[in-house]
Amino acid sequence: MTRNIALIRGDGIGPEIVEQALLVLNKVAALYGHTFTYTDVDMGGNAIDKWGDPLPQEMLQKCLDSDSVLLGAVGGPKWNDVPGPMRPEKGLLRLRAGMGVYSNNRPAKIWPQLASASPLKQEIVDKGIDFLIVRELTGGIYFGKHETLHQDGESVAVDELRYSESEIRRIGRIGFESARKRRGKLCSVEKSNVLDSSRLWKKVMHELAEEYPDVTLSDMLVDNCAMQIVKDPSQFDVIVTENMFGDILSDEASMITGSIGMIPSSSLGDTTCGLYEPIHGSAPDIAGKDIANPIGTILAAAMMLRYSFDLAAEADAIESAVSAVLDQGYRTADILPDQATGCIKVGCKEMGRLIIENLTKG
Ligand code: NAD
Repeated sequence: MTRNIALIRGDGIGPEIVEQALLVLNKVAALYGHTFTYTDVDMGGNAIDKWGDPLPQEMLQKCLDSDSVLLGAVGGPKWNDVPGPMRPEKGLLRLRAGMGVYSNNRPAKIWPQLASASPLKQEIVDKGIDFLIVRELTGGIYFGKHETLHQDGESVAVDELRYSESEIRRIGRIGFESARKRRGKLCSVEKSNVLDSSRLWKKVMHELAEEYPDVTLSDMLVDNCAMQIVKDPSQFDVIVTENMFGDILSDEASMITGSIGMIPSSSLGDTTCGLYEPIHGSAPDIAGKDIANPIGTILAAAMMLRYSFDLAAEADAIESAVSAVLDQGYRTADILPDQATGCIKVGCKEMGRLIIENLTKG
């Protein structure tokens, strides 16, 4: 397989962690006989410095012309005083809009080797945590009409929550397709006991279920889901939900797994060209020190192989290599336990090298 990947190294620790993901992809290509080529794209603070714009049009075009995009992170204190539309984060929003990605997919997975970092009780963690939250990204209450009126002598604020059948159907399909590539269980989360938009959501999900007989669909109210994520997260495989519920639940889910440096995410639209990135920011406090954890970005590259290129074996190989390195006791500073436990502290480059060393054709 030949694929061109747009690489946005970004700011802060971005270039360091993307470099390690690139080396891992090169090893996968060598092992499995693929050709991955890379197009460097400037975005964020570095693009402001170079071009006076966090995402010049030709940089966006490079992403649109690629088969998928891998991003480190953007932003940092250097650009804090840049005016609103030219801020580094605006580049990211313009990239998401330009790519038309309406589905954000965030795994919540606990690595058994890091179980002690979870704030949940041991007996809950021991049952295993490995699920994916598929969040609708471009509709719902965040994109409805927002207004503050003056009525009867006081202010009244209104935020409109609107979903069309077609918006629900397209995110629903991503949920079903993702479940199909995992353990075949999809939980649709809504608030259909109160909201019309949720009743429509539930109806469309059940219509779609007829097209996916191999996927088991269940429904859950969002308040119950928030409880179940801390009570028994092992019950979930894929959760599909609307924008605001997904925003809140995905942050809750990332907390129960331990370190921010370990979690990847993907954003997808109607094409297979997706945006893959770790969930953390540019960590300017540790940039340039070779201590950042590259695993979130390396796992984002694995997600790209699985979901955009349909290369499940290759994605599995990367995840197995990460697991093997953790088994061997190697840890970057952010996932190093407080007490001495026989773990070996390594830097960003060394962590990347160890993962590559453990990468084998499964
Ligand atoms: P952050 O995620 O960058 O850092 C929070 C804390 O986590 C810091 O202590 C940092 O050192 C640590 N951390 C983060 N990633 C790590 C890693 N891979 N390895 C080890 N430690 C890690 O959040 P912040 O400090 O609030 O934001 C810093 C900058 O990043 C801001 O400019 C913000 O706007 C930007 N940001 C960008 C994105 C993105 O590009 N998608 C997302 C969030 C924040």
